[in-house]
Amino acid sequence: MSTATTTAPLEEVVAEGLVIDGLVKEYAGDGYVVRVLDDLSFHARPGELVVLLGPSGSGKSTLLSCIGGMLSPTSGSIRLNEIDVTAASRRTLDEYRKRHVGFVFQGFNLIPSLNARENVAVPLIVSKTVSRTAALGRADEMLSRVGLSDRAKHKPSQLSGGQQQRVAVARGLVTDPQLLIADEPTANLDHIQAEGVIGLFRELRTQGRVIVVSTHDARLIPVADRVVRMTPDGIEPDQGAHEVRLTRGTVVFRQEDPPEYVYVIESGDVEIVRELIGGGEERLAVLRAGQYFGELGAMLGFPRSATARASTDVVLTAMPPHEFRSKVERS
Ligand code: ADP
Ligand code: MG
Repeated sequence: MSTATTTAPLEEVVAEGLVIDGLVKEYAGDGYVVRVLDDLSFHARPGELVVLLGPSGSGKSTLLSCIGGMLSPTSGSIRLNEIDVTAASRRTLDEYRKRHVGFVFQGFNLIPSLNARENVAVPLIVSKTVSRTAALGRADEMLSRVGLSDRAKHKPSQLSGGQQQRVAVARGLVTDPQLLIADEPTANLDHIQAEGVIGLFRELRTQGRVIVVSTHDARLIPVADRVVRMTPDGIEPDQGAHEVRLTRGTVVFRQEDPPEYVYVIESGDVEIVRELIGGGEERLAVLRAGQYFGELGAMLGFPRSATARASTDVVLTAMPPHEFRSKVERS
């Protein structure tokens, strides 16, 4: 290797596309912290269609808001090509939202009093980068791209749900963004209209644009280049029932950990505490031999709602949820 460029900083090579690294987002609940995104990482290359898959409440909208620069994550980083979104100044972030990201929403969010081409032109008119005439001209191109040239003069109320969403996609693309994000864009559509919109997303994977689409519908998996699952897939642990011996003060599991086993106390005491915002904790219960804990989260696949800690030396039996259930149902 030549050392001729000694004055150049030894920068890391920046990966192209969308790079999410160790993303955490916590919301303040009723006195406690809910971790909605927990150390999420993925990399989408230019031209990829990413499907974020998860049920309602799994953090899809939160993640898209972070990616779109509308919400600050608690920690972790987001980069789009050369832009470090999480470290950007307010001004850069404003530019990022207006120029580099296109948004499509579940409810279409078209302006009722404007016709289709005016709706599509809105982001360009707002960004004041081109004249109004040029913006409307570009809107016509985009409407043609989504197959709606003949509906340019129609108001949203004169269009079907599928057509309105195609107008919204055209609007999302009108600034030619590097990233298009769509939050459950097919949730309000019947399957025929949904297919049209998804087909459109597939066609749009050109010119290195990254497209991120959230859904709770696993039927979209086959169209994705990459699937990001917002909830762990298998919550069934890999070991059967087994004994666990812990010394006093050891944590069995921590609040917000993914669920795994149900624990039955054979001997000793276990305290259940809730971790509070600002660092304190509240003791919810002390459990003794013969009692069990961690069963609901493990059966439902929810994160742990509290921390469990050995308050004496303890012996526990860790059980996969299905074994625990059949044991409880038998006894
Ligand atoms: P999804 O889009 O997958 O349905 P969301 O990102 O909307 O999920 O929400 C994930 C979780 O975060 C939910 O439990 C929701 O109640 C909670 N949440 C979302 N926004 C806020 C907020 N502003 N404050 C507190 N909790 C929130
Ligand atoms: Mg949502």
